[in-house]
Amino acid sequence: MPKTPAEIIRAEIRALKAYHVQDSSGMVKLDAMENPYRLPEDLRGRLARLVGEAALNRYPDAGARALKDELRPALEIPTGAELLLGNGSDELIQVLAMAAAKPGAVVLGLEPSFVMFRMIASFAGARYAGVDLREDFSLDVERVLAALERERPAVVFIAYPNNPTGNLFDAELIERVIEAAPGLVVVDEAYHAFAGASFMARLPRYPNLLVMRTLSKLGLAGIRLGVLAGADAWIRELDKLRLPYNVSTLTQAVAREVLRHGDVLTEQAAAIKLERERLLRELQRMPDVTAYPSDANFILFRTSEAERVFDGLKQRGVLIKSLHGSHRLLAGCLRVTVGTPEENTAFLTALTQALAA
Ligand code: PMP
Repeated sequence: MPKTPAEIIRAEIRALKAYHVQDSSGMVKLDAMENPYRLPEDLRGRLARLVGEAALNRYPDAGARALKDELRPALEIPTGAELLLGNGSDELIQVLAMAAAKPGAVVLGLEPSFVMFRMIASFAGARYAGVDLREDFSLDVERVLAALERERPAVVFIAYPNNPTGNLFDAELIERVIEAAPGLVVVDEAYHAFAGASFMARLPRYPNLLVMRTLSKLGLAGIRLGVLAGADAWIRELDKLRLPYNVSTLTQAVAREVLRHGDVLTEQAAAIKLERERLLRELQRMPDVTAYPSDANFILFRTSEAERVFDGLKQRGVLIKSLHGSHRLLAGCLRVTVGTPEENTAFLTALTQALAA
């Protein structure tokens, strides 16, 4: 008899719940922090020609040199910092975890935060240690410093702004964490476009700091491109774990062309930020809703009957994300991605009805 999955698959993998992507067909899709806007018609035309001309019979440029040259100024990468590209920043988290997962190695994250930090640590066979934020979602620096002493983590992940809470932690507190950490600190700036704050310029100052970005939230979630920036001594080692052709020819070509017209994405991000403020104002006016200010392209809010409200929104054709039950600090919490003005209005109308039902 061949062995069963229970005998072959590692216990910690069997214990994981798969990352759940909700079915969104036909819905107003406000669940996944996507940019709701398409690219302008003329740029799409140029992309179509580029794709048509691409040498798809050949492997991609494994070093993605031309793309990196476009990324350096666009992301304001400091001189001397090197880049590692991933098939989304998810893949870069995976590379980091795999590289650091010596027996007994610890990956430390803040809780609640992006769930993949914890999941990927498990995939890689590292032990994950979570440190709770304060009730107001700020960084509890004393608790983090104590955890650094106790756990001696190989890698610390800090999302800045944080997902799902949407806030930027106090930069001085993050600096104290970087200074006290015995290993790497990765500042994950997935929502940078909506925040106006970054650790990128601090790279030269801290040899144990890496800064991660993604083009996903900016409007290119479909092409899958993540960027890790930091000292060559780290990037050179991590690059050995990257699969040779992880960033496809199409991704490289499309990203280069769109970055050359980067103002399109910046303008879309500005429109999203304006709508974020309207959404926040409207949410804060609703009965039984506590909405938290956000530096990202989503808003977290709390309501006493979160499950019923989430289902009520779904019945009315609006899909958001429920965080209720995922962490003590997120009891009653739902997260809505900022959409187009029309989508946001549809959400607000459906929410008013769902709350009153
Ligand atoms: N980091 C954070 C904080 C995120 O919220 C997300 C997406 N939800 C990611 C990384 C992953 O982004 P991607 O793999 O699309 O680059």
